[in-house]
Amino acid sequence: MRKFSQFIQQTSFTKAEIVELLKASDNDLEHLFAVANEVKKSHVGAKVYFRGLVEFSNVCSKDCYYCGIRKSNRNVRRYNLSDEEILNAARFACENNYGSLVLQSGELENDAFTLRIENLLKQIKKISGGALGITLSLGEQSSDVYKRWFDAGAHRYLLRIETSNRELYQKLHPGNHSFEKRMACLNDLQRIGYQTGTGVMIGLPFQTIDDLADDLLFMQHFNIDMVGMGPYIEHEETPLYELRNVLWPIGERFITALKMIAVLRIMMKDINIASATALQAIDPLGREKGVRAGANVIMPNITPGMYRNDYALYQNKPCTDEEPLQCKVCLDARLSLSDSEIGYGEWGDSKHFFRRNQK
Ligand code: SAM
Ligand code: SF4
Repeated sequence: MRKFSQFIQQTSFTKAEIVELLKASDNDLEHLFAVANEVKKSHVGAKVYFRGLVEFSNVCSKDCYYCGIRKSNRNVRRYNLSDEEILNAARFACENNYGSLVLQSGELENDAFTLRIENLLKQIKKISGGALGITLSLGEQSSDVYKRWFDAGAHRYLLRIETSNRELYQKLHPGNHSFEKRMACLNDLQRIGYQTGTGVMIGLPFQTIDDLADDLLFMQHFNIDMVGMGPYIEHEETPLYELRNVLWPIGERFITALKMIAVLRIMMKDINIASATALQAIDPLGREKGVRAGANVIMPNITPGMYRNDYALYQNKPCTDEEPLQCKVCLDARLSLSDSEIGYGEWGDSKHFFRRNQK
């Protein structure tokens, strides 16, 4: 038996074991990914589910030090899709059998925004005859707002913890962003009944393998249903760019992100794991490699092409010059390379969510 096969049935992991897995040598990588894939196939199946991603606005009231669309970046051309453009993207997702939609934007906390999203959710449910599953990724909100959106039809929410290391979190954000608030939001989402997703960036300045092992333990302890995590990629118009000289080489961030996917799959066998777009910014086949490492969700960008350049969280964001249809064709072709079937028209909900709620 090869060294990682012992973990296939294991459900509880020590930090030392996680660190050992994250430190897998280049020679052991294929074996690690094969073990993760075996776990994936036996617990969630071999299918990859699509979530059409609509990045509907880059207007943001926050100032995260790593993000290209932060409030203080004056070079960003701000946009906000009209309701009709968002509904057209939803129609596109339906017509192309994507099964689900993700609405993502910069973070705004105000009554007009809350109401707009609530109305959009109802309209998307209506035009799709209830067929489209809806994930939101709209940052920190009050628990009342989360509940209103849940009642209006959203059933999954993605809010990355970014890093579970509180001190590192504070270094990455201005003083008025708080780790405690983020935790409170994640707790609210779970209590309200969302399939709750979180995630981290990998290869942040000052981050260590120990931190990443703690991130994975955090996810297990929090009992998350889904995860979206990917490499940190610097953007020259952000404060964190000053620390570019202390970063791990980009290739190491990429490989470590794949290892994080594989190790989390082995630890939390039945959750949904998204293969992050940031992987593709580093390697043209990055998202397919994420699927090979244990991910089972892909979020093809279905934002109208003319806005994509303006949602630049980091540099070299892929496919910014493509229209939605081109993206689909390109993804179909690529996924066929990685021995996966696409769950067309299926929601592909987190199996973990249902198991967690049966208890
Ligand atoms: N505003 C919402 C939020 O922050 O949750 C949703 C949109 S935000 C752009 C989505 C994610 O982008 C963040 O959670 C963060 O992890 C990621 N992100 C931002 N800047 C990044 C960078 N430079 N490299 C990699 N990921 C980045
Ligand atoms: Fe705004 Fe989200 Fe970027 Fe932070 S990560 S600046 S909240 S868009």
